[in-house]
Amino acid sequence: MPDTQATDLVVLGGGPGGYAAAFLAADRGVQTTLIDATAKPGGTCLHVGCIPSKTLLHVAHVIYAAHDAAEFGLRFAALDIDLNKLRAKGNKIVETMTGSLMKGCKDRGITHLVGHGRFIDAHTIQVDGGPTVTFQRCIIAVGSIPATLPMFDIGSKRILDSTGALAIESVPKSLLVVGGGYIGLEMGSVYAALGSKVTVVEMTPGLLPGVDADLVRPLHARLRARFENIYLNTKVVGVKEVNDAISVQFEGEADIKEASYEKVLVAVGRRPNTANLGFDKLGIETERGFINTDSQRRTKVPHIFAIGDAAGEPMLAHKAAHEGKLAVEVMTGEEAAVWDPRAIPAVVFTDPEIAWCGLTETEAKKQSREIKIGVFRWGFSGRAATVGRNDGLTKVIVDPATDQILGVGLVGAGAGELIAEAVVAIEMGATAKDLAMCIHPHPTLSETIGEAAELLHGLSSHIFTPKKK
Ligand code: NAD
Repeated sequence: MPDTQATDLVVLGGGPGGYAAAFLAADRGVQTTLIDATAKPGGTCLHVGCIPSKTLLHVAHVIYAAHDAAEFGLRFAALDIDLNKLRAKGNKIVETMTGSLMKGCKDRGITHLVGHGRFIDAHTIQVDGGPTVTFQRCIIAVGSIPATLPMFDIGSKRILDSTGALAIESVPKSLLVVGGGYIGLEMGSVYAALGSKVTVVEMTPGLLPGVDADLVRPLHARLRARFENIYLNTKVVGVKEVNDAISVQFEGEADIKEASYEKVLVAVGRRPNTANLGFDKLGIETERGFINTDSQRRTKVPHIFAIGDAAGEPMLAHKAAHEGKLAVEVMTGEEAAVWDPRAIPAVVFTDPEIAWCGLTETEAKKQSREIKIGVFRWGFSGRAATVGRNDGLTKVIVDPATDQILGVGLVGAGAGELIAEAVVAIEMGATAKDLAMCIHPHPTLSETIGEAAELLHGLSSHIFTPKKK
């Protein structure tokens, strides 16, 4: 390989944001080089995030569905887990998807370089163990890494981050999950289904801080039954390895001050992976590690763009992919394109799932913004009854003056799939009346969205709204 290569566009980072950008750029005829620190594109999402965790959550779902089938008169034999087979299946899924990305690079004529890239100047990147690459334009898509707390750096294999937890080396008898956010609750659910006694410790007053409380409540209720303990308003203040366990000290509302666990998963957030990139030489500005960009995802250096987790919240793969495509559209001539989504969906893949998009009730309160809400409880849904899942809720949030839908929140089985309809409605500027007039198929859980909108117009058949005198 020559020591120096010249390219038109460098995409630094091959996750869902980076590869989406690189593929579109190449499709538009831009000579593109994709640099990634690892040999296989796909990033955190494909290798140690969304895809492996959703494979495991599917397994958890099957285990709980078999368990819950007892109320329909179905009994299965006791669970027998072959961890080797489970790991092999997960690896195969990731391998197949990686293969199709590698083929995507090859088919499009993208140069794929492996190694950590670091800026030498505003037109040059040095790849560790590889060539120096000169470029005309660049998209930084370096993603994020797990945040750590120094207290947990005791060099113990019993302390896991999300990557270690996904490897499922064993099913510990007891697992402490530090952090009641996305990762903590998703991975806690997996281990609880596989047979671990799971305790979650969360420092704020509720699980999934920032998510509307009425959406979290049904999840909390279910997790209370599946987890050993959920400690809220509680912090870990001490950690040490003692014999075959990790002894943990708590401070706060937890009813105990010390306990031991076979393993501990630390899931206290992620931070942008932007250190050690040589930004000091370029004038690229960061804030708490996130790269500052304008509405077209351009950094302070006009020919360098930044997208995805490295460029700000929410740290979600689908947001990264859309930002990546926007950056390419801007640099290939769509100069008016701007980043202005009305509704970025978020999904927590627990059981029940929680999903929302657009304005939340919590945000509306913070902004002192007047809203009207239609809430449809799944106890009134025929479909929810037939699948034994009446613990859901769907709410549609509208502007009281215009009836325009501002946000939708869902908790319930399959909420992550249902939210897509709400994204389309919000992006198309639909009103609640529009949504109410759309005929939803019966009997489906999608009807709950239509009914929540109908409630705002006194049209619901299944929930009686007494008339105001
Ligand atoms: P998070 O921000 O969702 O949750 C971290 C939790 O840890 C918070 O509830 C916080 O209050 C708590 N916490 C922080 N310090 C603590 C301490 N010392 N003791 C106890 N609790 C503490 O972060 P995460 O769960 O690590 O996930 C990181 C990011 O990854 C998310 O923000 C999300 O963007 C992304 N992610 C998304 C999905 C998905 O889309 N389904 C799944 C996993 C991760």
